[in-house]
Amino acid sequence: MLSSRPAGSVLTRGKRVTSEPFRLAALPTLSRATAARDETARKDPERLDRLWKAGRVLLVDKQGRTPVRDGGTALAPRPALAFADERPAEAMLLGEQGDESYWVLSSDEELRPVPAPPGAWSLWAGAESADGEQWHDLRGVGSLLDDTAAGLFTTAVGLVNWHARARFCAKCGSPVDRTAAGWASKCTGCGREEYPRTDPAVICLVHDGGDQVLLARQPIWPAHRYSVLAGFVETGESLEACVEREIAEEVGVEVTDIRYLGSQPWPFPRSIMIGFTAAADPAAPLVPADGEIEHAHWVHRDRVVEALANGGQLPDLILPGETSIARQMVAGWAGR
Ligand SMILES: [Zn+2]
Repeated sequence: MLSSRPAGSVLTRGKRVTSEPFRLAALPTLSRATAARDETARKDPERLDRLWKAGRVLLVDKQGRTPVRDGGTALAPRPALAFADERPAEAMLLGEQGDESYWVLSSDEELRPVPAPPGAWSLWAGAESADGEQWHDLRGVGSLLDDTAAGLFTTAVGLVNWHARARFCAKCGSPVDRTAAGWASKCTGCGREEYPRTDPAVICLVHDGGDQVLLARQPIWPAHRYSVLAGFVETGESLEACVEREIAEEVGVEVTDIRYLGSQPWPFPRSIMIGFTAAADPAAPLVPADGEIEHAHWVHRDRVVEALANGGQLPDLILPGETSIARQMVAGWAGR
């Protein structure tokens, strides 16, 4: 439903409060990138062959892990020529940086799990190869990498995930061939072309126009972890309508003053998170969606500031991890 309340204000206990705008605290960690996406090269086989010879290859396994070094602060790509003298058909071009090109290849390397350190995200996927090389996933190390590496790894995971789930034509069911250096597929039956898909999801920080933010948790999350609310955009729906619907569905409150904050790719397996802020009345009863939201509550800015100063967590409040855009949203709101 469209609200009749004026933009920029929210009714709080009978008083109209103007909400102050804020920005993300920093560019979301997975939105960082520096390598040039060379779209023209993707359809130029001779140029691709030349790029391969000076290329470096990220391996990505089925669980989205890649070799890293220096405690996960740097990627460990291999020289392309260590794999093959000629460009393999399955090699996918990530981009170019200086005199080097970067590629991704899927890996079937056998890895053994590495136990999670205390406080790790529940989806921890750290592993090591037989020779002791460390492999990590994007959630685990995305925020530790520099801008170039973060962009390359994010794109690599997105391409690998798309191809793993789009091996057959959606129209006629025939197998597809990988084309355009990984950036398209072509059906062997009907010739239909497809490009890497991205599913939009909104993520929204709901505040009260004052010093409180609405944080909620899903039943599957580690104890005490809370975040802002998020949900997938449905077909035929605008982003703003999705924000209104998702907040109403998840916690039963009406929001106003919806504003765009920023976005970040989230290739798990193929989303982009589109960040918004919105206001709601903290006096309205919260009705968490059964099975989806275990608990939702208003949290005072002072507690969020305290948690942020303590590495993102207090004994009973663990904020979103630094790889998530939610962290930059919460930090931006807390520090405005
Ligand atoms: Zn087809």
